[in-house]
Amino acid sequence: MRKSIIAILFIGFLITISKLSFCQPEIHQHGEVWNIGDFGEDRINIIYMGDGFTKKDLVKGHMYDLAAIACYNRIFSTEPFKTYRNYFNFQVIYLESKDEGIDYGDDGIIKTTVLNCGFGNFGKQRNIGSSSDDKIIFYAEKVLGREKSPKDFIIVGVNDKKYGGFAPWESNVAYYSAAAKTENRDVNALHEFGHAFGLLADEYSFAKRYYSLPEEFYLYKNTESAYNISYHSDPKKVKWSKFIGLPGYEDIGVFEGGHTYEKGLYRPTKQSIMRGFKKTTFNAPSRYQIYNRIHSLMGKACSFEDFLKNDKNNK
Ligand SMILES: [Zn+2]
Repeated sequence: MRKSIIAILFIGFLITISKLSFCQPEIHQHGEVWNIGDFGEDRINIIYMGDGFTKKDLVKGHMYDLAAIACYNRIFSTEPFKTYRNYFNFQVIYLESKDEGIDYGDDGIIKTTVLNCGFGNFGKQRNIGSSSDDKIIFYAEKVLGREKSPKDFIIVGVNDKKYGGFAPWESNVAYYSAAAKTENRDVNALHEFGHAFGLLADEYSFAKRYYSLPEEFYLYKNTESAYNISYHSDPKKVKWSKFIGLPGYEDIGVFEGGHTYEKGLYRPTKQSIMRGFKKTTFNAPSRYQIYNRIHSLMGKACSFEDFLKNDKNNK
């Protein structure tokens, strides 16, 4: 009798153990790659990678997945990326860090993370950067299976509650806080991608900053760069002059303030995603610039008329 009770208990123990192991959560492995949505050859590639995500965040359906999906959804629900979705691939590479969060250099907080990201880039606390750009390129090229080209863009989401972002000029890389305590964290990802992909400038300004450098000194003269900022206040001279007075584009004009300067530089609309989060969409000149970038990277013909024909105008 006693033996049979022990046998029953032992069988019960085995069943419990097998159930426990069966219930182990599925975890994405370090280096695993996932294509979100439609994938094709010879497209513009967006590679999403995370820093400061620990093993528990790599459980399927948890933090890493949610951050990547939210970023994907934000980009491709916004024009003109929505209309031209089929020109893009969006691939996620799963990277496991030892520590959660990233460095706060000014406060002496140093984390051990796979991409060595931290706040405080270029002397600003909310600017995120990496001290190991080579690792970012390494993982991007692991996904691509070749050397990175101008058609390849990288979004680095950091698992940190502090709000921040950055996109080093013409680097094809955008950083943002994927765990920031704000509902705008994914809008912020798109803002930074606006810099990285569209070569767009910020449209916000800080009080009492007056731009006084000559036009040719900086990037405002080049139409490929900072298409949404002008040195001129004359509607005929701004880069987006062809939108002014066009039916359906009545919000486009010349507004003082942009690229962090309150005076001396001008932007096309009162609000847009490049100014703040009161509007979460790109204004028409920025959409046109992104449209041109997409077509030039894809080697396809483009024109202002074609842009207008396909523009969804989601102001
Ligand atoms: Zn910005």
